[in-house]
Amino acid sequence: MAYKAPVKEHLFLLNEVLNLGSYSNLPGFADATPELTAQLLDEAARFCEGVLEPLNAVGDREGCRHDPATGAVTTPTGFADAYRTMVEAGWSALAVDPQWGGQGLPGVLNLAFNEMASSANMAFAMYPGLTHGAFSAILSAGDEAQKALYLPRLATGEWAGAMNLTEPQCGTDLGLIRSKAVKSGDGTWKLTGEKIWISGGEQDFTPNLVQLVLARTEGAPAGTRGLSLFIVPKFLPAADGTPGERNGFKCVGLEEKMGIHGNATCFMSYEGATGWLLGEETKGLRQMFVMMNEARLGVAVQGLAQAEAAYQAAARFARERLQGRALTGPQNPDGPADPIVVHPDVRRMLMDCKAVIEGGRALLFWTILHQDVERGSTDEAERQKADDVVQLMTPVVKSFLTDRGFQICSDALQVHGGSGYTTHFPAAQYLRDSRIAMIYEGTNGVQALDLVGRKLPANGGRAMMAFLAELDAFAAEPADEALAPFVEGVKSAKAQLQEASLWLLQNGVANPDAAAASSHDYLNLLALAGLAYMWARMAKAAQAKIAAGDADPFFANKLATGRYFLERVLPEAGAHLAKVKTGAGPVMALAAEAF
Ligand SMILES: Cc1cc2nc3c(=O)[nH]c(=O)nc-3n(C[C@H](O)[C@H](O)[C@H](O)COP(=O)(O)OP(=O)(O)OC[C@H]3O[C@@H](n4cnc5c(N)ncnc54)[C@H](O)[C@@H]3O)c2cc1C
Repeated sequence: MAYKAPVKEHLFLLNEVLNLGSYSNLPGFADATPELTAQLLDEAARFCEGVLEPLNAVGDREGCRHDPATGAVTTPTGFADAYRTMVEAGWSALAVDPQWGGQGLPGVLNLAFNEMASSANMAFAMYPGLTHGAFSAILSAGDEAQKALYLPRLATGEWAGAMNLTEPQCGTDLGLIRSKAVKSGDGTWKLTGEKIWISGGEQDFTPNLVQLVLARTEGAPAGTRGLSLFIVPKFLPAADGTPGERNGFKCVGLEEKMGIHGNATCFMSYEGATGWLLGEETKGLRQMFVMMNEARLGVAVQGLAQAEAAYQAAARFARERLQGRALTGPQNPDGPADPIVVHPDVRRMLMDCKAVIEGGRALLFWTILHQDVERGSTDEAERQKADDVVQLMTPVVKSFLTDRGFQICSDALQVHGGSGYTTHFPAAQYLRDSRIAMIYEGTNGVQALDLVGRKLPANGGRAMMAFLAELDAFAAEPADEALAPFVEGVKSAKAQLQEASLWLLQNGVANPDAAAASSHDYLNLLALAGLAYMWARMAKAAQAKIAAGDADPFFANKLATGRYFLERVLPEAGAHLAKVKTGAGPVMALAAEAF
């Protein structure tokens, strides 16, 4: 038995915890009735389990192939057919505005689909993920003709998109970009340069492929302020969209890499390729951030998704593998040994995984629900508040869910013992595939710097103050006795987060190294506070079900997992607070040559 989409978890979150029904004022939400949601998620599960998951190991084994003569890339067996099936079924356009050919459903429903797709086959799911990012960038900055030409085709997945930032000398520091754009005199530009590690920069699924390329125009200032963003299609389209002449760029090689072998990681060479400016000249980074922010949330999904798939594999293995006896007496007296799930140390690993996955999933869904509010509400104040949450939480979910996602994949492999290290079980692939998520779309270190350097101080700390106030308001609500530990968890996490925030305010401005040295721990403290809040809300929803007489063990298990989180995971917040307060001193003590 392979990966099973966690439809029941999704329905619990959407219907009972986030209460989707109360957002019927937002576009698309009135259509997302509990019945339609359940039906849609069941269908999504069938597609991801039945079509994508069987190709996961195939993609890992075969990888992509490159033809140096033509630059063509062949994806693993079955990928192109699966892509066509996905497009025909309309999965790519689930949450896209009907104006562009989408179904206009809530983004949180799309998130459930994305999680399943990424659990089933992360390498495959990256192709439509980046296409959607290109869609959003053109939606945000494109002129009317660009929108009319590209958006309907990207929305459905008929054409694909890719994101071109990185160059050999330029990773984190985008100010080092050298690719050049020169005016052609006919409204187009000619692009020249090398881009490396471009995910989905070439594939064999779609009749056209739209590269979004950051480049420097003639005379533009050095650094990031001189960057502009260009739309560079593989085939120059006629006004009606018919792909025409082949554009002047090609994939000149593929990267050999640790995981996600089914995703083509391309070296791209632009040799006077025709491009169209997207948005204003020299404002390219601002436009690209639309795509990057979306991609960051997409990478957070990958961390969660790989963790879920790896945890499921570990739980299955632990129920079946017979080794040793339970310390309190045999649990499988007729067998030669007990299943390893009886051992407390195996339980510890499984519970760590489960508590962080379920809490992390709730935090991610809660964040994306705010994105829906920001996009759909007609109330300006509500939109601003929702946007603050999305801005604040984007680096947090990206970094926390991918760091923890990898840790969970490692714990899941550990549960398998030596079998996990072999290719007979999927644990090793999950571990390898998940590792990149901590690196791309801005490394997790860079996410933490973004949090303390930009997101926290923005608008006088408004987003953090609102988050702290929301925790206070939740803790002040009257609650059932059974929820008391959860309310205490929220209160203590809030107090620690507030203390760390004040410390940063008092020390981080005077000494930027202090803020930077504390940023990783501060981000983790904020994430744990977020999980404490989510676990309290999930416990409240589960307790309400139990109080109403629902005997489904799902709800009692939810409470027990939540208590595990409070007792065995949340205490890490104290260590993060202590580390935040050490500042830069211990981190910067050694001279560079001492390393
Ligand atoms: C499989 C794969 C797919 C990718 N897909 C794409 C894609 O589709 N499009 C694209 O444009 N790029 C893509 N990338 C590139 C990816 O986004 C970069 O690898 C990433 O941004 C980091 O850049 P770098 O690897 O050059 O690391 P570097 O920037 O060299 O960083 C090395 C280390 O130093 C740290 N560091 C660097 N600067 C700072 C700083 N100022 N403060 C603190 N720490 C710092 C980093 O956190 C990191 O730990 C991909 C990469 C891979 C491996």
